[in-house]
Amino acid sequence: MAFTGVVALDGPSGTGKSTVARRLAERLGARYLDTGAMYRAATVAVLRAGVDLADADAIADAVAAADILISTDPTRASVRLDGAPVDAEIRSAGTTAAVSAVSAVPAVRAQLVQQQRDLIGAGGIVVEGRDIGSVVWPQARPKIFLTASPEARAQRRAGELHADVAAIAVDIARRDRLDSTRVTSPLAQADDAIKVDTTELGIEQVVDRLVELAGAVVVDG
Ligand code: C5P
Repeated sequence: MAFTGVVALDGPSGTGKSTVARRLAERLGARYLDTGAMYRAATVAVLRAGVDLADADAIADAVAAADILISTDPTRASVRLDGAPVDAEIRSAGTTAAVSAVSAVPAVRAQLVQQQRDLIGAGGIVVEGRDIGSVVWPQARPKIFLTASPEARAQRRAGELHADVAAIAVDIARRDRLDSTRVTSPLAQADDAIKVDTTELGIEQVVDRLVELAGAVVVDG
């Protein structure tokens, strides 16, 4: 039976979150929503508009004018900005450096959270981000918070990006600090979230554990 609920998968970068979320969605026969990709596409719009990253109003205007369209097919990730794909651009170093500033603007969050709720709609979806279990969809079950040691996270990100581990560790620490200390919906574990530490686990082990948790929800509830 296909999964008809909403799985919330939150946590910082380098915990395997995106890969785990996509595979989990495939295993459950569910859709998949990468909310980080939406904040990244919004950031591309802001950078293209040439807006000062200290000017929250100008950031909000640039994002309000942007048309962000994201696929929820776990086998075909794609995000479009104003009609054109931006899948490579959202992963660039420039976008990654600016995304925390853009995602901290309350009007940006209000706009994207509304769009995320519309996409979640009737459910049957795995949603990954920072604030899914705490703000976007508090009724999600199961609600998972993925963690891993800072060293493991830096190693994984460096492997994905073919970059230097020390430089990545600095960037991860900077984004953690910005994402955890912002006023509007900071990265935080919801009280009722189940914490899964992926430091010593392979991707398939994590996915197996989450399939079990989602299965328990189907049976119990
Ligand atoms: O998950 P990913 O690393 O692609 O997210 C990029 C950035 O988007 C995060 O560092 C964070 O600033 C922001 N984000 C957010 N809320 C979410 C998802 C991502 O603020 N739900």
